[in-house]
Amino acid sequence: METKHITIPINQFITQLASDKENGLLSDEAIKRLQKFGSNVIQADKGKSPLRILLEQFNSLMVWLLLFAAGLSFWFQEYLDATAILLVILINAVVGFWMELQALRSMNALKKMASVPSKVFRDGKLIEIPSEELVPGDVLFLEAGDIITADARIIQAAQLSVNEASLTGEAMPVEKKETELPEKTPLAERTNMLHKGTYVTNGNAKALVTATGMQTELGKIAHLVQSAKQSATPLEKKLQVFSRKLIYITIILVVLIFVVGLLTHGDYVEMLETAIALAVAAIPEGLPIVATLALAQGMMKMAKHKIIVKKLAAVETLGGTTIICTDKTGTLTQNKIEVSEVIPVDIASEKNKELLTRIGMLCNTASVEINNNGVNEIGDPLETGLLKYAYKQGVLKEQVEKIFPKINEVPFSSETKMMATLHKNGNGFTVFAKGAAEELLNQCTFIVNGYDKSQLTEQLKDEWKQKAEKLAASGLRIIAGAYKETTNENTPLLEDLIFAGLYCMIDPPAEDVYQAIQEAKDAGIRVVMITGDHPATANCIANQLHISSENEPISGKDMQPYEHLTEIDKQKWLQTSVFARVTPAQKLDLVTVLQEQGNIVGMTGDGVNDAPALKKADIGIAMGQRGTQVAQEVSDMVLKDDAFSSIVHAIKQGRIIFSNIQKFVIYLLSCNMSELFVVSLAALSNLHFQLLPLQILFINLVTDVLPALALGVSEGNPYVMKHNPRNPSEPLLKTKQWYAVWVYAAVISVCTLGAVFVSHYFIHAGTQFDPKLCNNILFFTLIFCQLFHVFNMASAKVSFFKSEVFRNRYVWYALLSCTLIILALFFATPVKEALNIQPLNTEDWVVVFVSATCSLLVIQLLKRLKIIHDED
Ligand code: ATP
Repeated sequence: METKHITIPINQFITQLASDKENGLLSDEAIKRLQKFGSNVIQADKGKSPLRILLEQFNSLMVWLLLFAAGLSFWFQEYLDATAILLVILINAVVGFWMELQALRSMNALKKMASVPSKVFRDGKLIEIPSEELVPGDVLFLEAGDIITADARIIQAAQLSVNEASLTGEAMPVEKKETELPEKTPLAERTNMLHKGTYVTNGNAKALVTATGMQTELGKIAHLVQSAKQSATPLEKKLQVFSRKLIYITIILVVLIFVVGLLTHGDYVEMLETAIALAVAAIPEGLPIVATLALAQGMMKMAKHKIIVKKLAAVETLGGTTIICTDKTGTLTQNKIEVSEVIPVDIASEKNKELLTRIGMLCNTASVEINNNGVNEIGDPLETGLLKYAYKQGVLKEQVEKIFPKINEVPFSSETKMMATLHKNGNGFTVFAKGAAEELLNQCTFIVNGYDKSQLTEQLKDEWKQKAEKLAASGLRIIAGAYKETTNENTPLLEDLIFAGLYCMIDPPAEDVYQAIQEAKDAGIRVVMITGDHPATANCIANQLHISSENEPISGKDMQPYEHLTEIDKQKWLQTSVFARVTPAQKLDLVTVLQEQGNIVGMTGDGVNDAPALKKADIGIAMGQRGTQVAQEVSDMVLKDDAFSSIVHAIKQGRIIFSNIQKFVIYLLSCNMSELFVVSLAALSNLHFQLLPLQILFINLVTDVLPALALGVSEGNPYVMKHNPRNPSEPLLKTKQWYAVWVYAAVISVCTLGAVFVSHYFIHAGTQFDPKLCNNILFFTLIFCQLFHVFNMASAKVSFFKSEVFRNRYVWYALLSCTLIILALFFATPVKEALNIQPLNTEDWVVVFVSATCSLLVIQLLKRLKIIHDED
């Protein structure tokens, strides 16, 4: 095992890799290396090949049944029928293949969108690049929450710790630093190395990329890493159960029809084929894949709205969300943080003001570049806000940092709510610190006094805390600044500080949040604000947005750990809408309490410590811009625009998709059921114009499928967000919907048989019974009844012509295509023969269309009179 990369002195290593500590690689060189070393990707899981997907289409109960029917036809030398059935198998396989491929493509495209970028120094600038483009020699910059995207040797680290569980199984974060290690140090003890696939839990670091892609430690064990297989979503599982049930019912009915047919009719081959055709019609084998397709398309649609849903199951859970727990900064607010005012301790002192500017600028990990092309900001908006403030005062971070180089740092964490940096200052050192006012004040023992400092008494401390609280109550974000001078390089950075003043920052609510909150309320979804900010700031913003409850905001310091919670505490939590100064651990407790009460919780988060709460929530929502890579990795959904309105939009889409799948199922079921009715009735009453097996197959595999698919991509009606969330434990179809299916099927069957009756007794009264004509009327009426039936899938709360189905262009495309296919039937002689079709006269066509319209009208009437309900 080659271990030179951990033993060699770092500077020598940098030279060896022809890189530069400060400037990184030159872009040209990086391109050359990318060609030489290849993309930084792990090629472990290539997924199913298209050929395999295609072949799998032929392995299903339906195909076996059809093959049996084809065999039967061959045996009895009905070659046309046999060929037609084989064709049906082929068409069916192609459609299934296409659908599965589409779903897979969408998912792959989404995977790419969710991939994490890397921050590297190239040509002397810190930039973000797609991680696939990393090459050995690149100088990486990593912060808490970043996923490590290549193997790298640490050049410089500040309080760095890394979670390496994915590689070594060690759950606790490991401390890392720049050092040289002896040869053959085992992987888990290589404290000077960072490894691909692990993540930074604390601190920050600069590191030299040593290996990429399959050369990394992760790449070497890639074959062991189980491919993350998407398991079936609850909806898909529900559909599988549903399909199985239907199969049993169908088998019983089909056997019954076959036996009865035999007893009355006698031609057992035809009866067997009819039975098989019916079985094929009724077995909803395509349901799960259609659901997958609808979910995957929903994901793509959301992606266009900058919402990346990572798991199919999440799309579905979204629809059932009952509570959204959202953070404030950047989700409800604009996150364009601006310093509106600084309040020095000594208001008259310019020096004190300058000091605050310097603290805000140097105790800062962000960077802002202002040039002719505009402003390029990297880092936390609070920090870029401070940098822009400094810039307005005419000071540039890069210049000042040269005079006061940073040598150490205590990075910001949501737990401490503070950070500090240590800078060289001539022969001594200066510490700059900033953080939440009440926290930082607690770390101060002195206060600025003119050119000097004086003792910070408890009384003074309280006065400043109250001042901060008052300012916060007007919705401002308040940060305190402090410093100290020292000669001791190892001084604890967050102790004995000199309080210098406050920064007041504005971060107003985002424009579209008001409307989104109202929409959520209308949809029976509660919005709860969980923020790290001050309770007064949080409450003010909550009031502006109308999300406050009667209960006062709960502050993190008053929240007991989960084990100590009483029932009363839990009830109080349940009724409160604003939680402030909350730590990530408390977020997790809150999710637990809310879930215990049967809520489906959507929870936003961005920090590395939010990961457990994001995982625990039913829908973990990470912010694409602000969120750490770890938060994005563990969450179910990433909002590229960090906007609250996107969450509500996603919930709406989730509901629409579910309702589309439901409509799709109701439509197909009622169509299939009507065929079963018609064929059973015809068999039982020994009518001599029974539907032929191929006709049944034609209806099911051609004319039913297209409108059904169109229903799957419907836009949804305006009422999707006007009812309470669906209970996810409910079955796919409720009893009332089953009832609707039976009624629809009955109406369609009556109208279809009625058409034959009218044609025979009125149009062709007195002529001899023509079984072929009657059969054709039956066939075409059934087709058009079913085609028109698609309009019955619209909400009865919306007027017919304005409904989501009427306005769905895909429905019209589907109807048009079906009509063209039917027209084409009359010209394609072999198909015409196989389907036993003859030209109909105008009167007969009128009967067909009037009957189909009748079935539409009757069902519309029943729905609008609320005799049947098929909506949630
Ligand atoms: P939210 O949870 O809604 O995003 P938040 O940004 O205020 O709100 P945190 O990021 O946990 O939540 O920050 C908590 C507090 O820490 C803030 O209210 C602020 O007082 C302080 N703070 C935030 N960012 C910094 C920073 N970069 N440096 C110093 N203090 C900070």
